[in-house]
Amino acid sequence: MCFVQIQLKNRDMKAKNCGIEFPHFGASYPDAKCCDGYLWDMDSWDESLGGFTVGGDEPCPVCNTEAWLDSVVGEDAVFETKEEALAYVEQLKKRYLNYE
Ligand SMILES: [Zn+2]
Repeated sequence: MCFVQIQLKNRDMKAKNCGIEFPHFGASYPDAKCCDGYLWDMDSWDESLGGFTVGGDEPCPVCNTEAWLDSVVGEDAVFETKEEALAYVEQLKKRYLNYE
């Protein structure tokens, strides 16, 4: 379960929630988890709340790709071109998502 905020924010969206986990928030191990199409910091898990407390702002590259591309492609952004960004997504899928 992700934090309740994200449920409210996305209540009208039909996100795929691929559930991918990969290194994103600065750790060398997978520290980000996709929840309802947005990335959450797995190190922010709060036992008493039963959810993550950090994240929910960045779209998931794998299942929320269009929104993610808007935020990472462009001048002074993470990727210069859409092609570079999509190649990164393919890498993520291969390494961290088990498609059968
Ligand atoms: Zn996802």
